[in-house]
This record gives sequence, C-alpha cells and structure tokens, in this order.
Amino acid sequence: MKTEYITLKEASLNNNCPECYSTDGMILSFKQQRLSSKLLVKTKSNIIECINCSKCENQIFPGQWTTDIERVYNYHKKTIPHKSGSLHFTGLFYFLVFLFLIIASGVYLYLVKPELIGL
Ligand SMILES: [Zn+2]
Repeated sequence: MKTEYITLKEASLNNNCPECYSTDGMILSFKQQRLSSKLLVKTKSNIIECINCSKCENQIFPGQWTTDIERVYNYHKKTIPHKSGSLHFTGLFYFLVFLFLIIASGVYLYLVKPELIGL
C-alpha cells in the first residue's frame, strides 16, 4: 500500500506565526489521504488540516493557534467542498477479473459442454 496526500486547498495566511512571528510564512492546507495498491485506490473521507510556516519550517499545531488563526481557518474550512471517501479499482484489477472470466468460461466449456469446443 502506498500512502499519498491530495491537497484540496492551500491558502497562505498573513497572521503572525506563533514560532517566528513572521506574517507571510504560514500556509494552511487541507489534505485527503489516499491509499493505493496495485489493485485498488482508496480515498479516505476525513480531511487533514495543517498549518506550516515556510519561514521557520515549523508545523503550527492547533494548540498554538491564536484566535485570529482560528478565524481564518474556520473561514477556509467552509470553502472546502465536502468530499466523500471512495474506492476505485485499477486497470490491473479489471484485467485480472477479465482473465478469470475467460479461464472460468474455458473450464466450464471443457467440463460441462465439451461438444461446444469440438471435444
Ligand atoms: Zn514561523
């Protein structure tokens, strides 16, 4: 299983960073987790929010947020389209199903209706 994060939205904040007090370094991002394997791709429904400061390279955890940061966060949160989780099968999965059906029908013909394939 491979884990990746899809960014739904990124917004730069001009609030003061609680770590380095810079006003132009913080980036708020909303991400969704996606797990993929050779056969399927699963997107989780929960949204992961995080704030990172590009100036001091710290992650700003919710406990450090000021009320101003919370206000901006709540504003952006409302603009995120709600995405539900999903499960998709890959091309390889369908290929294997197809192959299985071909083999199964071959076996079926061979065992049950051999006259159809000239045996
Ligand atoms: Zn900072």
